[in-house]
Amino acid sequence: MAKPKVAFYWCSSCGGCEETVVDLNEDILKVAEAIDIVMWPVAMDFKKKDIAAMQDGEIAVSFINGAIRLSEQEEMAKLIRQKSGLVVAFGACAHLGGIPGLANFNTRESIFRRAYLETPSTDNPDGTLPQEKTTVDGVTLTLPAFYDTVKTLDQTIPVDYYLPGCPPPPNLIADAVNAILSGKLPPKGSVLAPSKALCDTCPRTASKPEKIAIKEVKRPYEIKIDPEKCFLLQGLICMGPVTRSGCGETCIKANMPCRGCFGPVDGVVDQGGKAVSMIASLLGLDAEGTLTEEEEKKLINSIADPAGTFYRFSLASSLLRRKKIE
Ligand code: SF4
Ligand code: SF4
Repeated sequence: MAKPKVAFYWCSSCGGCEETVVDLNEDILKVAEAIDIVMWPVAMDFKKKDIAAMQDGEIAVSFINGAIRLSEQEEMAKLIRQKSGLVVAFGACAHLGGIPGLANFNTRESIFRRAYLETPSTDNPDGTLPQEKTTVDGVTLTLPAFYDTVKTLDQTIPVDYYLPGCPPPPNLIADAVNAILSGKLPPKGSVLAPSKALCDTCPRTASKPEKIAIKEVKRPYEIKIDPEKCFLLQGLICMGPVTRSGCGETCIKANMPCRGCFGPVDGVVDQGGKAVSMIASLLGLDAEGTLTEEEEKKLINSIADPAGTFYRFSLASSLLRRKKIE
């Protein structure tokens, strides 16, 4: 019997999601025995034309990681969608926009200016910027269009399932592949991880307070972090209360607060908005708060980069989506 065809593709991301497939270690051999990989740019040399030549729906499942930032990524995502029975948004960038989605606080022009003209390491005396078309010795060279706005995968093509995480842990990938191969799949649109907040599974949950009245929010490098106590109790922002569990509490076990890469639990539309409301209520900033107005101001100002902190992985998928372009 023919093995089911599987594709992996890489859009706007760091590549860590592809590495984590390799982290399946010897289990990858079992996966490779059960499936026929038809595209995997990080490991194998397949071309776009190979995919284009396939029948529509011929690929059983495609795992696409990365956000959509370039016209080429949009084109490939649409082609793979056409050729695939199922598409899984693989990792935080495809799922929520991820770190590349933070670029939505800027425009294409400001990103190009910073990257190609202003950074201290740049040596570009002619001020050359990337062009979609350039003619060299009579030959026209092209680059993909660089969009103003980074999009999630499901803002570009219909997505069947989401594998969260930066990157998704190998056990969740193996579970997803097994569920797909055995046909035991949850309803379409599901995130393939538990819909419980990380605090529910966190080993520090017993020390998490209902209410805190700290006077200043700290950054991890500013204090000696107690390895047993809830980070919030130590004045550190932890996204655990508004983040889906399933990662194995990776950061917590490394004595670092959760940064929210698994995204929100089911039913929450805007993880960052939820985080702002969570922090405001926990820090006693409501009418019953224990802080004076001055203390409140100081406390709010002590949160470094609030937009980047609360929307670190989810800006492109949030209600805000991007900063307004004038
Ligand atoms: S806030 Fe963070 S440290 Fe505290 S219980 Fe939740 S996940 Fe754990
Ligand atoms: S602790 Fe938070 S940021 Fe770290 S891997 Fe888990 S969900 Fe992601």
